[in-house]
Amino acid sequence: MCSLNPLKPAQTVCSPRCRAARWRLREKDQRQARNREIRGLLLTARESIEAARTKLEDA
Ligand SMILES: [Zn+2]
Repeated sequence: MCSLNPLKPAQTVCSPRCRAARWRLREKDQRQARNREIRGLLLTARESIEAARTKLEDA
């Protein structure tokens, strides 16, 4: 993206368009991180349920 236009030292993006693209990318990263977190929680919940069910079946 920013390899197209050389940046001045103080710049982090070369254009508003680039800034928007970078923002979208970060949003996507954050969404993916959140999804990973939720999947982890679901896995933990499922393991808890299975552990509880096993206890019931043993009783
Ligand atoms: Zn750029």
